[in-house]
Amino acid sequence: MTEEQYHKLNDYLNLCFQAMEEEHSFFLRNINKFVIASEKCSIMLSDYDIQEENAEVHLTALEVFALGREIVEKLCPCYLQKYNSLLDSGVLDFSYGIQSEDYNPKKLYTYDYDGSHFCYHNFEPEININRRYNYEDVCTLIHEFLHMTNTKRNKKNPAGRVVKEFISIYFEIKALLYLIEKKGIEPSQIFWNMRLLSIKRHMNDFNHYSFPLACYEIFGEVHPKYINETNPKANLEHIPDLSTYLYPYYSSKERFENDCKDMFFNLERLEQQYQQNTSDKNISNIASLSNYLLENSDFIYDYQYILGTILTYYAIEHCKVQDILRLNDIINNMTVDTTDNEFVYGIDNLLCSIGIDLSDLNVLEESMDSMRHVIEKYSTSKRK
Ligand SMILES: [Zn+2]
Repeated sequence: MTEEQYHKLNDYLNLCFQAMEEEHSFFLRNINKFVIASEKCSIMLSDYDIQEENAEVHLTALEVFALGREIVEKLCPCYLQKYNSLLDSGVLDFSYGIQSEDYNPKKLYTYDYDGSHFCYHNFEPEININRRYNYEDVCTLIHEFLHMTNTKRNKKNPAGRVVKEFISIYFEIKALLYLIEKKGIEPSQIFWNMRLLSIKRHMNDFNHYSFPLACYEIFGEVHPKYINETNPKANLEHIPDLSTYLYPYYSSKERFENDCKDMFFNLERLEQQYQQNTSDKNISNIASLSNYLLENSDFIYDYQYILGTILTYYAIEHCKVQDILRLNDIINNMTVDTTDNEFVYGIDNLLCSIGIDLSDLNVLEESMDSMRHVIEKYSTSKRK
């Protein structure tokens, strides 16, 4: 990386941090804590040999729909009417992959596992499932259906994507547990650890950004001059927890430079895309370069799935389904005009209203306990 590229990277990060003030103020205020949480959780999961467990059971689209209906009726009957209308209204589409040319997955959408998604396509709501022909399809359908309950066309939900992702992942995991516990589906027949495998990947990716992000947060700029190879812990001595988790990274300038390079080229590519899109006048719903860089940057993408999954595993043992439905009601009733921005955008405040205190580090510990319980209950492979 040249000096000029470092300079540019700092400019990009400055823009991203500015945009975070709005929707991701919680992340902004807690970057270093989040970096530690992601490291800790990834170390815990690396104790287990988590493999894809799935069986082709050749479920038809109607069987997937009927199982989904049963789950909605049991878990969230308030949405049953909406669910029942999915087929007649044509919202539910199992023909993944045949969207028209103007389909832009980076717009007004929630893009989920392997391309399955809920979005507005030609102004109409659409749930599209990239089918596996097994029970995973039922869980994916529940996930995307929950997105539909709190995503309005052309209207940004002020609660932000992280809370919405949490709600969808929560119901997806509840659906999975329902299939195993109430319908007697063998864990080996269902991809019961899909989310754990998926956050492991997100955490591996995020851990490449955590070093430059923490550096920017602590020193106000990203630069190799902060790497002291002879005494790697020196720069982080005042933040003992962070120095423990970032120690291996801080001991190598080469690693730092590689991570910065990846981040720089990603953000540079996004800037070019943005310039191209604005000249095509194709970007009316994107306010600024600052928001564009943040919304499309890999680290914020990984962050929302990691936090959504950590919260889900906490909630399956410590919250009631009613609490999560209440949270969905709260975010649906919020408006962007609300003057109290801290409440509007603060995930911590929103979660407090259903009894989850994010300032309490036990949330992470209890979430990891809950992940361990699930793994030990359903895993057929032994602990490493
Ligand atoms: Zn989602």
